[in-house]
Amino acid sequence: MREFPITHLKLVAVLAVIVVMLWLLDLATDSNNIPAGQSQRQSLSVPIPQAENNPPATTTSTNPEKNAIESDQHMPPPVRIKIRSGDNLSSIFARNKLSAGDLQRILSTEPAKILAELTPGQLIEVQSDASGAIKSLHYQIDPARTLVAQRTQTGFSATLVEESPEIRLESLRGTITKKNPSLYHAGKAAGLSDSLIMELASLFQWDISFALDLREGDRFSLIYEALSIKGEDIGTGKLLGAKFINLKETHTALFFQNQVGAEGYFDPSGQSLRKAFIRDPVHFSYVSSSFNLNRKHPIHNKTMPHRGIDYAANRGTPVLAAGEGRVIKAERNEASGKFIVLQHGEQYVTKYLHLSKFRRGLKVGSRVEQGQIIGYVGATGWATGPHLHYEFLVHGVHRNPRTVRLPNAEPIPAGELGAFQIATQSILASLNAT
Ligand SMILES: [Zn+2]
Repeated sequence: MREFPITHLKLVAVLAVIVVMLWLLDLATDSNNIPAGQSQRQSLSVPIPQAENNPPATTTSTNPEKNAIESDQHMPPPVRIKIRSGDNLSSIFARNKLSAGDLQRILSTEPAKILAELTPGQLIEVQSDASGAIKSLHYQIDPARTLVAQRTQTGFSATLVEESPEIRLESLRGTITKKNPSLYHAGKAAGLSDSLIMELASLFQWDISFALDLREGDRFSLIYEALSIKGEDIGTGKLLGAKFINLKETHTALFFQNQVGAEGYFDPSGQSLRKAFIRDPVHFSYVSSSFNLNRKHPIHNKTMPHRGIDYAANRGTPVLAAGEGRVIKAERNEASGKFIVLQHGEQYVTKYLHLSKFRRGLKVGSRVEQGQIIGYVGATGWATGPHLHYEFLVHGVHRNPRTVRLPNAEPIPAGELGAFQIATQSILASLNAT
């Protein structure tokens, strides 16, 4: 009986040794999961994209300190650089005493061309070996994209590692108030980004004049894709639906992409929100003088009809083509200053006066798309200050661009209406619930 414990102890000792060996083996195997670039062995054996599977090494933007790559005894610690304004690669490499020759070799790889466009705030991490040769370089372009360059036998190989963001739906709503009388201010107060405000304005630009028609109590709501990577918000994706109640009239926009990939915004009955003309050829301005055939002219002080609309806006504000068409005049005269005349099909002509300049390359005969920039607001000709004078002619007769009936763009074809309704019903229900 006495010998049993001894045998037992021996067994325990042997087992303990085995366990320790297994543990050490395990450690060695585990190190294979450390992202490439941390040791000489890793940089050769680990496929580059796997680096993205290990959050601590590559998502350096949230907490760079936590993401330190541990160096082994043969490697100096990695150099971590935050891009500052005015930085370029040569200055960064010189400042950090990194190999300029290796930089050239990295830059000669195709994906590394993107390194030329450094933006302040981005992060670069460089791992060199004891001799100063660069083993790897991680350049985080944005939360979704990292350039990973690795030394190979012959030089460097580089890969752009992209991470697809998680998408969740979010909604926001806002109201036009005395304090926030413009879409921009009400949108900001509601938490919309600048780009969402611009999208909302462009969605309804055919139906609502954001320069003239907004009233206190007008309301809007929208549903959009919020994008994040590893819990970090990186911006917004598609605007899926929006509702705008303007002057007690409800306008609804639903995003739809058909089977061949064509996409657009439609009202719940499948009518396109697009019209052949947008109402206002400048965004975010205000109307300083309306269409008025009995107006007293501010300079000449006598009754002179005002056959267009004046949009007061800062000099340089982009002026947009109200519809698809062709440039039939782009010239200058004493009264109109620099002006552009567009022909749209047979019946329609639009005119844009007092411009500071034309879009580069724009000339008589140029084709323009709806919403395309054709020139910039100025005060050339008879103008008391920077503004756009805009005219709309139907069959050669001046009409009020604010009230003229505008032709529609194509609706959803009857054969796709069912698919459209199925695809948009939940967004529509959510919008209607707001
Ligand atoms: Zn005018």
